[in-house]
Amino acid sequence: MIALTGIDKTFGDNHVLKSVSVAVPEGGVTALIGPSGSGKSTLLRCVNLLEIPQAGEVRIDDVKVTFAPGTRVERQQVQALRRKTGMVFQNFQLFPHLTAIENVMEGLLVVLKWPREKAHARALELLDKVGMREKADAWPSSLSGGQQQRVAIARALAPAPKVLLCDEPTSALDPQLAGEVVEVLAQLAREGTTMLMATHDLRLAASIASNVVFLQDGEVVEAGPAADVFGAPRDPRTQRFISSLT
Ligand code: ATP
Ligand code: MG
Repeated sequence: MIALTGIDKTFGDNHVLKSVSVAVPEGGVTALIGPSGSGKSTLLRCVNLLEIPQAGEVRIDDVKVTFAPGTRVERQQVQALRRKTGMVFQNFQLFPHLTAIENVMEGLLVVLKWPREKAHARALELLDKVGMREKADAWPSSLSGGQQQRVAIARALAPAPKVLLCDEPTSALDPQLAGEVVEVLAQLAREGTTMLMATHDLRLAASIASNVVFLQDGEVVEAGPAADVFGAPRDPRTQRFISSLT
């Protein structure tokens, strides 16, 4: 079970998330859509505590972290939640001084303390899954953006997270390279990988999302099955947003 409840986040006097609640169904892809600045990235970053909300609760399985003003979140809780998540960023963020396979192995070795051989085998399996096995020993700088993003997806999946958080995974890529990444994400979706994905790409969202959450000005305007939100949006704000992009 993955649930964000009543998440509040402010930066100074900028109230970016206003009591946002989102349920992420397991085995499905939840697309987070909304105008620039609506709080999509911030919400994703609140799930793995790259940002600490001022109020609300993040729950993934047995790990439940509650936030309140003035209350510090314990390191242990941060680690416990991070272990349940993997994150894919818009600009890949591979470690430049590590090869593709070393990038995928890094978390397994450093965080989970796996033996090298086991981590290597797991990393190869994941590189194979994203079609990057042949490039296992390549440096990130020698890879195309689409290839780097596929390695980043393998890296995020390596510790078998409960949920894959994706922040605009295709928007730094030209259409052809984005297509490679979409194919990988679509395959993961078919296999039942639970994902929460912020995206501007409504075609990507429509092709792989089972559920859609429309965020505007830090509030959930509409949420539901993708077919409903895209096919028959109820709120005029959702209707305007979708028609502006299609
Ligand atoms: P985009 O579609 O452009 O990626 P978004 O929906 O992801 O937008 P966020 O990046 O979450 O939006 O930003 C929401 C608001 O929070 C913006 O007003 C932004 O300026 C502000 N914000 C985000 N991160 C920070 C930060 N670290 N410090 C201060 N303000 C921030
Ligand atoms: Mg963003």
